[in-house]
Amino acid sequence: MSQKVRVRFAPSPTGPLHIGGLRTALFNYLYAKKNGGDFILRIEDTDQNRFVEGAEEYIIEALNWCGIPFDEGPGKEGAYGPYRQSERKDLYKSYALELIEKGKAYYAFDSAETLNHHRKDHEAKGKTFIYNWHNRLKLTNSLSLSEEEVKAKLDAGEDYVIRFKSPENEEIHLNDIIRGPIKIDSSTLDDKVLFKSDGMPTYHLANIVDDHLMKITHVIRGEEWLPSLALHAQLYDAFGWQSPEFAHLPLIMKPVGKGKLSKRDGEKGGFPVFPLTWNESEGYREAGFFPEAVINFLALLGWNPGTEQEIFSLEELVSSFTLERVNKSGARFDPEKNNWYNQQWLQKKSNAELATLFDTDLKNRNITATKEYVTHVVSLIKDRAIFAKDFWDLGSYFFEAPSSYNEKAVKKQWKEETPEIMSKVASLLDTIDSFESSIIEEKVKGWISEQELSFGKVMPPLRLVIVGDMKGPHLFDIMELIGKKETISRINTAIAQL
Ligand code: GLU
Repeated sequence: MSQKVRVRFAPSPTGPLHIGGLRTALFNYLYAKKNGGDFILRIEDTDQNRFVEGAEEYIIEALNWCGIPFDEGPGKEGAYGPYRQSERKDLYKSYALELIEKGKAYYAFDSAETLNHHRKDHEAKGKTFIYNWHNRLKLTNSLSLSEEEVKAKLDAGEDYVIRFKSPENEEIHLNDIIRGPIKIDSSTLDDKVLFKSDGMPTYHLANIVDDHLMKITHVIRGEEWLPSLALHAQLYDAFGWQSPEFAHLPLIMKPVGKGKLSKRDGEKGGFPVFPLTWNESEGYREAGFFPEAVINFLALLGWNPGTEQEIFSLEELVSSFTLERVNKSGARFDPEKNNWYNQQWLQKKSNAELATLFDTDLKNRNITATKEYVTHVVSLIKDRAIFAKDFWDLGSYFFEAPSSYNEKAVKKQWKEETPEIMSKVASLLDTIDSFESSIIEEKVKGWISEQELSFGKVMPPLRLVIVGDMKGPHLFDIMELIGKKETISRINTAIAQL
């Protein structure tokens, strides 16, 4: 029987989740659900200096808002907890020591000053200082010192780190599901620190140990971790553990130009880069995006279904998703396209659901209307809306008479004879008993032909006085909704004002 798929999202709680992190979580979720597996949240908080209060709660709330909750994680203990590395810190040291025992790692006693000195010295010569096979015997560590010297230092309580002993001259063969086979020359690798002098593991050690203990089968993470893959693969070998499979997701690129999407890009371009608001940075949720739209556009950032289909529900994503269809190259972030996705998802919502959203906005404006009325309005204007918050701009005239008229339109549509024509239209409307769109239309159009007037003399100014602008859905639908009295009153107001 094949192993149950287990994947994890392993953020460090150093701030809000960036949209790229959310995409990593989503791809993990999709892969897990597609394969009947588990999606685990592990909080990588071994670096206490970078810990940010509230970040973990933020991450969890963002996943829940998107509808991609984890199966195991903080607060949802499974068989492999705890799921915060800070609560697991006692277990890492023995693994570092095990590697020393096996000759795969070593103690290093070099002080920060010494290492800094080497770095500066190299820099001055235009070189980069790398701690590895080519110089480790000249530095202060358990490879260069005698056993007694090492023991004396340890007994004296001197500070040390534990470094991985990277091999000198080996070709390391790696595999990435998205990128295929990768070859690395081990002599270019440095002897990474696995365990720090403060008694905490580094990311590399804790990550590998936890992935192993949590029985992770697939590591799906951002491309920025690809350079760590050689070390991670060697660590699995060194421990004699079976390595999970790896998939490194392409970067999310700026809307224009080169480089990785940053918070600054969002500020400059006026679009969110966080799922939820964090301090002054507005999130997708607060900006009025539907979680379905966010999930949908994120999925298509770097993954393609191999068809023309663009709109996917979460269920459809789960059934279509494969890691093989994730692109190697960076995915350009397109805020316009994100809006388009929201617009598409808005159209899919029921009028009743949208009316509820609009109603909250109306209440804030001290406007009351029946649910039926608001629902009807929404049905007429929603095809132009990107967000529910657009409804007011698109349809305020359904709730109150225009307070001003579009100047350009007035110049163009309001002629000398217009007041007289409008006044006649008002009288005509007054005679209509059942004030329904199709009946009003028939009457008004019949009257226009009878009078041998052109439509252009009547319809545009009529729209202007009712809407205040040249926009909006079918004019007779608007009239029906606002009613006879209001329609006539708007005509009269305009005649008096214009
Ligand atoms: N803690 C790392 C991060 O913040 C996890 C990287 C990984 O998934 O291995 O992204």
